[in-house]
Amino acid sequence: MMKNFLIATLAAAWSAAAFAAPELTVNEKKLAARPLTDYAALITPPEVPRAFDVHREGCPVCGDKIKKHGMYSWIIDEAKPFKLQCPECKTVFPDNDYAAYLQSGLKDQSLLTGKYVDDGRGWKDGDKPGKYWFVAYYNHWTLKRRIESLLPQLANAYVRTGDSAFAERALVMLDKLAEYYPRYDHNKQSRYAEEVAPRYTGRIVNAIWETGIAASVADSWRKVAPALDQETPALCAATGKDNAALRANIENNMLRVMADDIMSENGRIRGNFGMHQWALLKIAIALKGRGGEPDDQAMVRWVTDYRKNSTPSSAPFDYVLYNNIFGDGAPMESPGYNAGWLNCIAVMADMLRDYGINYAELHPFSKRLFTYPAKLVVCGVYSPSSGDSGNIRGRASYGGSINTLRYSFATNPCPESSSLLLTARGLAAEEREAAEKLADPLFGYRSNLLSAYGVASLQNENQEKPLAYWLSFGFYPGHKHFDALHLELFTGTGPLMPDFGYPDSASGDDPTRFAFYSNTLVHNTMVVDAKAQDARAGRILAYDPGNFAQYIRAEAPDVYPGMTKYERSGLVVEPTPGKLIVLDVFRAAGGKQHDLFFHSAGETVETNLELKPQSGGTLAGEKVEVGAFYDDPRYAGETKGPRNFSRYRGSGYQYLTNVRSGANRPGAVLTLPVSETAKLLESGKGTYLRMHPVAGDAETLILSEGPSPRTQRGAPGKVVFVTRRRVAGEGEENFKSSFATVLENGPGTLISSVEALKQTEESVVLKIKLDNGDTLYCFDAVAPQSEFKFDEVAFAGQSGAVLVGKDGKEKSSYSYGEKPAFKAKVAAMDLKGETLTLDSDIPAELAVKGAFFTVGQAAYRIGEVSGKTVKLLDQSPVRGLFRFESFDEQQRTGEVSPQLVLARGKLALYEADGKTWVGEAHSQSNAGRLRVELPAKVETGKDYLLSECSPGDEVTLVTSQRK
Ligand SMILES: [Zn+2]
Ligand SMILES: [Zn+2]
Repeated sequence: MMKNFLIATLAAAWSAAAFAAPELTVNEKKLAARPLTDYAALITPPEVPRAFDVHREGCPVCGDKIKKHGMYSWIIDEAKPFKLQCPECKTVFPDNDYAAYLQSGLKDQSLLTGKYVDDGRGWKDGDKPGKYWFVAYYNHWTLKRRIESLLPQLANAYVRTGDSAFAERALVMLDKLAEYYPRYDHNKQSRYAEEVAPRYTGRIVNAIWETGIAASVADSWRKVAPALDQETPALCAATGKDNAALRANIENNMLRVMADDIMSENGRIRGNFGMHQWALLKIAIALKGRGGEPDDQAMVRWVTDYRKNSTPSSAPFDYVLYNNIFGDGAPMESPGYNAGWLNCIAVMADMLRDYGINYAELHPFSKRLFTYPAKLVVCGVYSPSSGDSGNIRGRASYGGSINTLRYSFATNPCPESSSLLLTARGLAAEEREAAEKLADPLFGYRSNLLSAYGVASLQNENQEKPLAYWLSFGFYPGHKHFDALHLELFTGTGPLMPDFGYPDSASGDDPTRFAFYSNTLVHNTMVVDAKAQDARAGRILAYDPGNFAQYIRAEAPDVYPGMTKYERSGLVVEPTPGKLIVLDVFRAAGGKQHDLFFHSAGETVETNLELKPQSGGTLAGEKVEVGAFYDDPRYAGETKGPRNFSRYRGSGYQYLTNVRSGANRPGAVLTLPVSETAKLLESGKGTYLRMHPVAGDAETLILSEGPSPRTQRGAPGKVVFVTRRRVAGEGEENFKSSFATVLENGPGTLISSVEALKQTEESVVLKIKLDNGDTLYCFDAVAPQSEFKFDEVAFAGQSGAVLVGKDGKEKSSYSYGEKPAFKAKVAAMDLKGETLTLDSDIPAELAVKGAFFTVGQAAYRIGEVSGKTVKLLDQSPVRGLFRFESFDEQQRTGEVSPQLVLARGKLALYEADGKTWVGEAHSQSNAGRLRVELPAKVETGKDYLLSECSPGDEVTLVTSQRK
């Protein structure tokens, strides 16, 4: 009942425009006043090149100063065709009149005069690599806006008012576009293909953004095509075609070409997952019932049904939930790109309803896909930036557009979908009221775990004085940074040590993107042997949210080949409300140099350590200048021709300057204030991160500075980097480090001293004296310890904290792993039912909802327990759904489709029912192949499921005590 009411309300809100009075708006009057023939001239022919950027270094006059105005900030004024103005130095480029040159049919060379001359293919500055593509930049952004914004404005004005003047103007644009469309070839007509990626293609714009062009064209055509049912003399005069010829031109030369580009996968219209499917469904609906080859039914089937050799971005809709979405609901990319997945899937699910397909009912756990972004939120309004997403501020919600949030709420009204809907602006009063009734009062303040996507938060669940610890340990294939075991802390006024988020630019020819912004050093984690991490997943080993003290542990040894240990644990204590003390322990074994990085959110640092300045250069060395590719000869010299830095795996140390260093010592403290001048950071005055780097063996502490992304307006110009460095001695084998760091948040001091009572490879025990006279004992060990004592205080387990008052009495205590862990083996699984059946009963006192446990390489939380069977909490163990195209009995490997992008390592192969175990499978480096150990036979042409955990895997559940 509730649901029906909602859908009716939402439908009314969505179609409100249809009932509005047909009086013309100011904008509509302007559109109608412009002569019909003008609209044809708005579409430039294929011969005019396109470029989304002018030059990687910025402006010919003021250089990279332009970057502080944001990405794509050149000023375009359509009254001055093909001219660009620099927002920084105000210079206008080019000098020549390109419009006149275009009018001459690109023939009259006498028009190409001045200092900055651009004939469409850019102006060259002497020997400097790359050209400045002024005309192409103007053309790219102007044409894109005309098709994606002006054209829908006309089509919508026609739908709203019924005035054929708008339809005719849209049809003039569509007709001209269709005349040119088969000849648009981004590979031959763009800066990007000529200078950066020679095989890159598209049509008008690049293949990814062309999906937006196709969707806009199809949708606009659907809306204005009915105007051709009447006589249109003015339109015929303007285009020289009768209505039948117009229709044929637009449908055959453009819409069907677009459909063919998508369905043949020729690469000209192909976006991230969902983008081209969305466009194809728009084309299908625009051509509904028109027949032809392919017809609209075939287009729909291309989107939904099994197809051989489909790539991840084109995986059939029925397979995507299993192959491209993690079992915890997160899609396979960074959160910003994932929001695009949600938008596309919501829109597609909506469009597919027209074809009798009810996605939410067919795939009940698709609901989780739309609510997973709730688990990214910390301190109420922040979602830590990750990969190419967000910015240094971290204030974001990644649930998608308002209509996506509405779709999620309408199909799955629950506390998370309601709370996410309430983050949207522009809700109708009834919607807001309905959502508020269901919303989670602690939304954004709860501790959350996405164990497959690979992020976790520990929060104090206090809305007045929120605190959050955040750890990233997973790997996702799309737009990930090399950031395994990156740590962050948040308070109610924002991040204290934020990920930088989206890099300076998304361009492959931008050296800072790969060498710095997505590199390991720019994250709060460890760089081994001055190299970037490999793109491999880590896993979570312990997760225990709760009051007073909370615990987390994760490892990612595969990110550096040859490491036997690369592990981080966090004991997160809140001795008084709103004040955080974190015992952070990073253990590593292998390699020759361990550099543990922390960076702040501000320009300054105070320390009681005596540090000696390095005489110039960068962290890469005194002689290594800023930006020099000192550790990768492929990029060292300036070379001409296309440049792409995506394969750089060096240190990135050449971007850190003002280097100071010295020996770490007991009692060392660093205070790192959050910037008070950066507009993006809203932290109150005096907010800081304070670090107590508990001195270990032969350790150097280094301070330096690096730039935050310059295209993020309002970001601090630079931030402070802290590096704790240990280097193996000559000939030292099996080099190990164990860095213990105590972190606290300001304003207001809390810790007066930190003393290491014990510090070995096995364990660290700290005595932390607080300003109020209390003493906090913290410890962390590689494995559970039997009882031991310091200062008459008893400890046991793998990690723990004891808070002792001035009077010597224990106020609070916490221990993790004091009692022996519960162990069992997986006997059977039901993948679709999301249950595991163990070989023994789970003791009732352990069968607590939300309790964390590991299974083989995977980790889950308990939903419900009955006897030996555990229902997983809001998570599926599935990592793939596919068919074998062929199978080689000798090699025991088969070709599979769709590609298995999330299936890694050892997997369990199941029949499509999700209950019948078939055998043990192993992923191959090529996601299109799978090796199967057992059984004797697999069949081609039928569905199989893959699970990340297997029958026989060990289940481990560790408990904790809080007093
Ligand atoms: Zn300039
Ligand atoms: Zn990052």
